Amino acid sequence: MSGPIKLGIIGCGIAARDLHYPALQKLKDKFEITVVCNHTEPKARDFAELVGNIPYVLDYHELLQRDDVEAVDIILPIDLNFQATKDALEAGKHVMLEKPIAANLDEADEMLAFPEKYPLVMMVAENFRYRPTFRRVKDLLSAKVIGEVYSVFWNVFYHVDRSNKYAMTEWRINHKYPGGFITDGGVHNIAALRFLFGDFEGGHAFVKSINREIGEQDTFSLQFRTKSGVDGVFSDFFSANGYSENRMIIFASEGSIIVSDNSISILRQGKKTQLETVDDDGGYYDEFVDFYHAVRNGQRVIATFQESHRDLEIIIQALEAAERKVRVRF
Ligand code: NAP
Repeated sequence: MSGPIKLGIIGCGIAARDLHYPALQKLKDKFEITVVCNHTEPKARDFAELVGNIPYVLDYHELLQRDDVEAVDIILPIDLNFQATKDALEAGKHVMLEKPIAANLDEADEMLAFPEKYPLVMMVAENFRYRPTFRRVKDLLSAKVIGEVYSVFWNVFYHVDRSNKYAMTEWRINHKYPGGFITDGGVHNIAALRFLFGDFEGGHAFVKSINREIGEQDTFSLQFRTKSGVDGVFSDFFSANGYSENRMIIFASEGSIIVSDNSISILRQGKKTQLETVDDDGGYYDEFVDFYHAVRNGQRVIATFQESHRDLEIIIQALEAAERKVRVRF
């Protein structure tokens, strides 16, 4: 088949409107949104109108039966990821699925077998694997601009309360998956850390609840070592009061790199700081392009189910070890 992929979108919430649709608007040569689905009608109708008065359905099984849908973009509450993905693949549709891959490791383990079972493209829309900022950092590290990396610190400090748009989604507050915001957000950071420094070996984690209104746990810190010997601390705080920061500091033999949103500073003793600002849309455009080439040209996707399974596994194993107050081997 050639031409734009006929895409059905399942879930017309925040990510569909604010993150996926803006990217898809720039990719009309590659994707045609043919139908959308939301189980509550106003959201389905409004989104269908926004896209261009296209058809909408309230039951995703109906969308999966349609001939004008070749692939689906699943953007649902996390606890529905497993079943919706399975149903879509059973119906013969290619799948792009929002992160995290599943709500627990039993489901994620079962999904690891899907690429063998179904001759279809499947990817997890882990946008951090595509973010231009991290790709640039990776190039700088590979070029040894700051020498040999030995340590990394990533502080993600936010204050989330019930007025935050994400905390207004009921499924995030009464989450049916461990870790609440820590898992929801943290898989992104684990994906980026693994992309930059390789797989994790082990570590020590701590978890706390500061504000029960936003879920069971909201404050997490993981001290880790990668298999390549880089040590690090990743702190993921969602109830930081009065202070916010999203900053990665990389220490290496000949310098340091600080990554803050889309800005990269290269610091070397006695030299002027080099500052770069990266044109970074969050990686949404590139993840759709990757999915397109996989469906149309048989290319392997970057954000495989296997990679996302590992991201989730690290977060869940760290959370469990923190509860049990033991060291974790990943
Ligand atoms: P959201 O706003 O709640 O969107 C989910 C949508 O699914 C809602 O509109 C909900 O409708 C609908 N829905 C629920 N059950 C359904 C069903 N059985 N059939 C059809 N529609 C159903 O949440 P979100 O923030 O967009 O998050 C959705 C996904 O995107 C999650 O996996 C999340 O992790 C991911 N996400 C990723 C990023 C990123 O940067 N990559 C950012 C945000 C979110 P109602 O609200 O009417 O129940």
